[in-house]
This record gives sequence, C-alpha cells and structure tokens, in this order.
Amino acid sequence: MPNTTTRDTVILGSGCAGLTAAIYAARANLKPLVLEGHEPGGQLSITTLVENFPGWPEGVQGPELIERMKQQAVRFGAELKMAQLVSADLSKHPYELNLGAGKDPIHTRTLIIASGASARWLGLPSEQALIGHGVSSCATCDGFFASGKEIAVIGGGDSAMEEALFLTRFATKVTLINRTDHFRASRIMMERATAHASIQLLSSTVVEEVLGVEEKEVRCLRLRNVKTGERTELPVSFMFLGIGHTPNAKPFHGQLDLDADGYILTHGNVFVTHNGKDVPGIFACGDIQDRRYRQAITAAATGCMAALEAEKFLEDHGR
Ligand SMILES: Cc1cc2nc3c(=O)[nH]c(=O)nc-3n(C[C@H](O)[C@H](O)[C@H](O)COP(=O)(O)OP(=O)(O)OC[C@H]3O[C@@H](n4cnc5c(N)ncnc54)[C@H](O)[C@@H]3O)c2cc1C
Repeated sequence: MPNTTTRDTVILGSGCAGLTAAIYAARANLKPLVLEGHEPGGQLSITTLVENFPGWPEGVQGPELIERMKQQAVRFGAELKMAQLVSADLSKHPYELNLGAGKDPIHTRTLIIASGASARWLGLPSEQALIGHGVSSCATCDGFFASGKEIAVIGGGDSAMEEALFLTRFATKVTLINRTDHFRASRIMMERATAHASIQLLSSTVVEEVLGVEEKEVRCLRLRNVKTGERTELPVSFMFLGIGHTPNAKPFHGQLDLDADGYILTHGNVFVTHNGKDVPGIFACGDIQDRRYRQAITAAATGCMAALEAEKFLEDHGR
C-alpha cells in the first residue's frame, strides 16, 4: 500500500541546520520527518573537537554534539529516517519527494532543505583516516589547533590562498601545494600569498599519501612532482584542504534558483525562489545556502529561522 499521508514538514538533512530545524518544528508540534541522507549527522559527525560552539567551554566532540541535538529533536517528537532524497517534484503543492526505486514517495506541505555542502577531499585512504587528526577542510574551525606548527594547504584558487593567509596567524610555516604550475587565484590574492614570509608555494605537486595513520596524527606528506616524477617528503602536522565544496542541491536543479556553483540562493535568510519568484513553503538553511560563514552555529541559526518560517506558513495556509 503506498503511503499517502501528507506531512506538515519534511527536513532534508541531519546536520546542525536540519537538527536545529527539527527541534523547533517538533516543539511547534509539526511532527517533522528528518531524512538523514548519505552522511547522518552531517559534517560535524566526521570531526573531532569543536571548540567554538557556545555553551561548551571545554569544547565538545562533533559526534557528541550532533547526538545530543538528535536526542533533543526526538524528545519533542521529530522522526528520523535513514533515507536519501533522489528527486523532488516542486511543481505542485503538497510537494512530492522521491526516495528511490521501490520506495513510497513522501508528500509534504513544507520542506526545509538543510542538505549542506560537502567538502572536496583528495580521496586518499590515509587522508580519510586522518580527518579530525590533522586533516581538515575548515581553517576557521581548526586553525587554532595548528598553533606553532608547520602545515600544508592544498589548492591553487582563492579559497586556498585565503585559508593559507588566515592560517599564518597560527602556523609557523604554511606550504601551499598546487597540482598544476598555474595558480587559479586572483592576482591580488596571489600577490598577498607570495609576499607573505611564512608562505611557501609548491606547484606541479600532488600529495600521494598522508603519513601518520598508525600514530593517529599527521606527521608528513609524501609528495610527487608531476613534471619530473620526483618523490619527496614534507614534514607537517596539519593538512588543510582548500579545493572547494560541492553543494548537495542536485534534486533541485531547474526547480529552484541556484548560484553559479550550485548553492541555493536565498533572500531574507531562508526564503527560496524559482525564476526570481518565491516558492511557497520551501526554506533553505545551513551550508547549502551559505558559502561565506559555513559554521555549526550559523547553520543552526538559519535552521531555527527555517522552522519558524515553516510554522508561520502552515499557520497562514491552514494545516
Ligand atoms: C572537518 C570539519 C570540521 C569542522 N569543524 C567545525 C567547528 O569546529 N566548528 C564549527 O562551527 N563548524 C565546523 N565545521 C563546519 C560545520 O560542520 C558545518 O558548517 C555544518 O556542519 C553545516 O551544517 P549543515 O546542517 O548545513 O550541513 P551538513 O553538516 O553538511 O549536513 C548536511 C546533511 O544533509 C544530508 N543530505 C545531503 N543530501 C541529501 C539528500 N539528497 N537527501 C537527504 N539528506 C541529504 C547529509 O546526509 C547531512 O546529514 C567543520 C566542518 C568540517 C568538514
């Protein structure tokens, strides 16, 4: 039997934006359904110590913070489901959400999109094993831990330059590693980076392995010059990725307005549009619509706003 119940609120994503939205929506008695997606708990579930979330003076482990948010949402009646949104039909209201072949579609009056933006990684097994132990994709979050250390930043665009410059506040030496001999960064950012005494640029170089998996801390990078084939080792205590993020907005291509990189465009913090017109009852929050701050607290803040707007929408339009 197909499930024909129409939900008041479905929340896409179980990171800090989605779970904060779930806490607020549940406390407003909207009985939200949270689709957890490919990364239950979101980006914080793959990190270690979070030291900048208010209320935790000694810091808190990312997975613990997320687990507590989940418990808080469930306590007020949120339902969490291990499922991935594959496609959505936003052309008619209530909206239809499809979870893949053989699964019943879900219909919902309001949709809160909190699907985040996934950091791009090199994809090396040693890199993945050391995330949270010296490998990071967030300089704002983890720069402090690099105090007094020699570190590497991967990438050749503006975000890598920005990260490298920011990290010179903490690290004694920053090596910027770019796989081609051409840095894509703007001239001004390039000039700032090259002029900085603590930044060294290494071009035409790839990371083949991050050493330190057994010790559970980054010790060294094994590098290869792609032109000469020469292999070297660079002793560093941290590797920061600065090669961008991929916004998880695929199901909404052609149905919501996105920016050139695929982030959902919002106005008034959480309102979304299609062809410049507001789409009723759909709100976006967290990193999927924020390429600037990308923090747990800002994601949580917009998650709260999205839930309050969903509640108001349902009140105005009858539940
Ligand atoms: C290594 C690392 C360390 C960090 N450290 C800190 C820190 O110390 N302090 C800090 O403030 N911030 C930190 N951040 C940043 C912080 O984690 C993000 O800003 C925050 O997680 C964004 O929350 P979000 O809910 O918007 O998205 P995310 O956390 O990315 O969650 C997105 C959710 O959407 C789900 N999803 C995606 N697509 C679909 C789909 N099609 N269907 C269903 N679900 C879907 C995913 O499964 C996931 O649950 C760190 C990030 C990283 C990567």
